[in-house]
Amino acid sequence: MDNCSNCHQAITNVESRCPHCGSLNSKIDDILAKEAAEREKNSFKGQLKSIIQADDRKQAFLERLQGVKQSLTKEILFTLFVIFAFIFTMTLTVL
Ligand SMILES: [Zn+2]
Repeated sequence: MDNCSNCHQAITNVESRCPHCGSLNSKIDDILAKEAAEREKNSFKGQLKSIIQADDRKQAFLERLQGVKQSLTKEILFTLFVIFAFIFTMTLTVL
């Protein structure tokens, strides 16, 4: 059993439309929304937002930094290096 995201009445999974309010069964919408929220959370903007919204911004920032450090693998570092090298080259070309 799921709940309609529009009217919050219980609906079965097989129903494509909510029998109560007629809105499309938003299971897919729900998943997409969750994914979007997840992406937003993991995005730079989302992380900045969570830092800004935190009670202790410095602490939140340090925690983020720690998380970033842990997720930095050699591959990511290499990718970053390539990106920076590319930007650097582009900047030199423009100037
Ligand atoms: Zn509904």
